[in-house]
Amino acid sequence: MNQKTLGDTLVTRFAPSPTGLLHLGHAYSALFAWRLADSAGGKFHLRIEDIDIGRCRPEFEEAIIEDLRWVGIDWVEPVWRQSQRMHRYGLALAKLDAMGLVYPCFCTRKDIAAEVSRSGTAPHLAGPGPDGPVYPGICRALDTETRRARIADGEPHALRLDMAAATACAGTLTWHDRTQGEQTATPETFGDVVLARKDVATSYHLAVTVDDAAQGVSLITRGVDLFAATDIHRLLQALLDLDVPEWHHIPLLTNGDGVRLTKRNQASTLRALRESGTEPSEIWAKAIRQIAQSAVLCDGK
Ligand code: GLU
Repeated sequence: MNQKTLGDTLVTRFAPSPTGLLHLGHAYSALFAWRLADSAGGKFHLRIEDIDIGRCRPEFEEAIIEDLRWVGIDWVEPVWRQSQRMHRYGLALAKLDAMGLVYPCFCTRKDIAAEVSRSGTAPHLAGPGPDGPVYPGICRALDTETRRARIADGEPHALRLDMAAATACAGTLTWHDRTQGEQTATPETFGDVVLARKDVATSYHLAVTVDDAAQGVSLITRGVDLFAATDIHRLLQALLDLDVPEWHHIPLLTNGDGVRLTKRNQASTLRALRESGTEPSEIWAKAIRQIAQSAVLCDGK
């Protein structure tokens, strides 16, 4: 499949999930993307990734918007919310389904864990992937009649990508990271990823891919923890015939002990920094300093 390219305008985005307060690492990520777009006369989008209905809270979304404004960031209005775009993900799923690349999976976590441990002696059935154990393919083998009957019975099911068929269809794919150069995608290491969860009719991988293309994002900047997942997104772009952006995976901030900042690090939240008298203009420099310290700590290990 051909690699399409985007136009000249630099379009970046920050795509937080409203599951907690933003911390210094998020501020760095948002400022990084916003500054790039701002200095290039491009566009910056804020997208709220709120598909995880169990964990997302409106009060965190409000706090995200308020904290980003406090830091001095502005964005193209309106703010997109993934919860309002489910029909778009449904259309993408229908396209993949029509290509014969999607199958329903009725497995519970328990079923998967049991199969993975049962096949422990046969690693080709369930090896470890970048995101944990690779799905051992239990439901891939079900015939059409069984699938239909179980769905008609109302059995909860996710939708998975048939990875072998998908990679065969897409062929060899590459993508470009601005710091780490040309990458050859190996999405097969993830196995049959979930495209729609049992409780939500999409997944992070599908929603992020559809939305980055729909917003014309030309440079995806995000934490290096998502580096491997980019292989899946590149595959979905090829299958859905979407434009291909560039990526810039950025370092993750750590606390003084070299442990990655999470939403649970109350002391590093923008709220806490603001309450302790930090000025918004100091946030960028503070994040850069912390990254430099993180690098020293990591090198020293
Ligand atoms: N929504 C994801 C998060 O909050 C970020 C996804 C992305 O930037 O691709 O971790």
